[in-house]
Amino acid sequence: MLIDFVLNISITITGIYLFHRLQYLEDRRFIDSDIFQALLMTTLSVLLLMVPIHMYDMVFSLYFIPLLILVKYSVPYLIIVSVLIVFMFHHMIFNFDWQLYLIFFILYILIMMILPFLKFQKLKELTAASIIFTSLYVISIHIFVQPLTAFQMVVFILASTLVMFVAMMMYEDINAILRLLKRYEEEEYKDFLTQLGNVKALDNAVVELLEESDTLSMLLIDIDNFSLINDEHSHASGDALIRQMAHLLNNHAPTGGMLFRSSGEEFSMVIPDLSFDRTVRLAEAIRNSVERANFHISDTDTVHLTVSIGVGYQVVVPNTKGRLLKEADDMVHAAKKQGQNRVMFNPL
Ligand code: GH3
Ligand code: MG
Ligand code: MG
Repeated sequence: MLIDFVLNISITITGIYLFHRLQYLEDRRFIDSDIFQALLMTTLSVLLLMVPIHMYDMVFSLYFIPLLILVKYSVPYLIIVSVLIVFMFHHMIFNFDWQLYLIFFILYILIMMILPFLKFQKLKELTAASIIFTSLYVISIHIFVQPLTAFQMVVFILASTLVMFVAMMMYEDINAILRLLKRYEEEEYKDFLTQLGNVKALDNAVVELLEESDTLSMLLIDIDNFSLINDEHSHASGDALIRQMAHLLNNHAPTGGMLFRSSGEEFSMVIPDLSFDRTVRLAEAIRNSVERANFHISDTDTVHLTVSIGVGYQVVVPNTKGRLLKEADDMVHAAKKQGQNRVMFNPL
């Protein structure tokens, strides 16, 4: 009996872990989907049917535990499909008594209807719900199917509660770990101050756009004399200005264009399939609108800022990426050299 029990726990834990792991490898977006949860719990349920627990003259299966967990994580129509599939295995393939399943089914429908109103969220509460469910299940078996001793009932309830507790804990832990991993990966490509993509994201975007587009435009936008602003006001004011600048620049990004914060006071806008003329006009419009904007350093005080913009423009051929970045970079330096607040570009 002990070995049966250990097998039940092992299968549950391994199943939950393997499923999450596979899904994480294949397609991360799928991980939260209802179908995934239903598939996982149906499989676990069928596996548990294969290793029933033998206790004296009684045989019982903990197949209902994954289905109980499913009530919390999936949607009704998928839950019903899962329950029907499990019934097929329960009765038709493994020849378990259909009356047992009928009792389970009635209690299950009850719990499906009640659980959403009880707002069971915590492990503790779910374990309590499982104890109540199992107790009702055991008492119904005792009354309608076969009489059980008090000892058998207690063992049944204890075994199922323990498996339920371990399964839920594992399930919650893995989900939490995967959520953290996802956030960590997202943050690797995000600039904390402006919430724009960072230089790594810029690099990826350029690589992607070079594959998909015929021409690629890049504006390297550098705030003029920003160190003076920091000195005159404060670093915090500087941060606020960078955020406002990000907002203003983002409003100028045309459809398909993307804005990144490439470093401190320097932004990059990449736009696929925009003509050279339009690219230069866009740069001029941005320069102009920055020059005219009021940037707030406090509720009452505003400052004016200017930007120097280097334009890079490339018709996409092999090795475009390096040349695009270098061109925009050279141009922004040329703009600074010529006295700032201007757009520089190589005529085509
Ligand atoms: P130039 O016109 O030649 O671009 O002059 P500049 O002062 O803007 O350029 P420089 O590269 O000499 O200095 C950039 C300054 O931007 C240095 C730093 O104080 C400031 N800076 C960089 N990142 C941040 C940031 O995240 N917050 C704030 N407040 N300031 C920053
Ligand atoms: Mg700079
Ligand atoms: Mg600067």
